[in-house]
Amino acid sequence: MVANNFDELKALPRDKVAGKIVLFNYSFDKQMAAGGHGGDAYGEAVVYRGDGPSAAARQGAVACLIRSVGGADYRLPHTGQTKYADDAPKIPAGALTAEDADLIVDLVRQGQVKMKLTLTPQQLPDVESYNVIGDIKGSEHPEQIIIVSGHLDSWDLGTGAVDDGAGVAVSMEAANLIQKLHLKPKRTIRMIAWMNEENGLAGSKQYEKDHREEWSNHFAAMETDGGAGHPIGINIKGKFEIKKLLAPVLAVLQESGAGGTNFAEHVGADIEPMEKADVPAFSPIQDSRFYFNYHHTAADTLDKIVPKELAENSAVVAVVTYALANMEQPLPR
Ligand SMILES: [Zn+2]
Repeated sequence: MVANNFDELKALPRDKVAGKIVLFNYSFDKQMAAGGHGGDAYGEAVVYRGDGPSAAARQGAVACLIRSVGGADYRLPHTGQTKYADDAPKIPAGALTAEDADLIVDLVRQGQVKMKLTLTPQQLPDVESYNVIGDIKGSEHPEQIIIVSGHLDSWDLGTGAVDDGAGVAVSMEAANLIQKLHLKPKRTIRMIAWMNEENGLAGSKQYEKDHREEWSNHFAAMETDGGAGHPIGINIKGKFEIKKLLAPVLAVLQESGAGGTNFAEHVGADIEPMEKADVPAFSPIQDSRFYFNYHHTAADTLDKIVPKELAENSAVVAVVTYALANMEQPLPR
């Protein structure tokens, strides 16, 4: 049976759902993405992938299918993490392409539909892996750290070029640019390629364990995890006064059209422990119109990266990183 959203499912009596396969048919809002709000469109859709299977199981469903929660055409399924709640049976779940979801919805309108699911994923035991960390030591306050980062792992269908090879490349190149220009940061710039963002944030959690006593010396944290689309400014998670302090930097960025700011509740998954500890956090605001056409699909491959736009992101991150490293005053927390 088909439910377009959680409310529709809840409105159904349990005996209508019990023993059935539930298809969540929530459509990714392509117009919202086209308007530059790809992340918001994803946020509204991804709850079905995350919470849909348990919601269906609570009403007795035996399996769950999720209409792809991205904007991909060309019959590409969009996949990703599912959270099984403790209070519901762990039923099998799978992603459907938008085209196949439409087809099934149409067939269900005509009568009963029988499906046989062959789902191959399995959870293998954890293996040892690592965050990759490199420091450019600060000349005056080496103990104070600015993190510039992306995540090294990716979801499995593609090669993870936009999510998040781009973020790692942008961060490494930002550090590289600062060195190539022979700039001397006063604070330490720490480039991190996080491990296992996608499947539980193990690298971020380990870093938190190892470094949380030093959060007061973590001056700022940045993560690039929105692909390599043209940057138009920076997201800020922190006090409003930060924008004023960054005004000269924003003026420099505005020369390439990247001087905008946006205050956000949350700017990066791996740096969230620092966000929660009130470490000022940043990320580039990137063109998100097309990101969710590729993100977590088999089409997330290197050809989707526009080298010029990748370089623009490195420039923005390098400028902000160096400015933070050499700021006269501390940022308010
Ligand atoms: Zn990512």
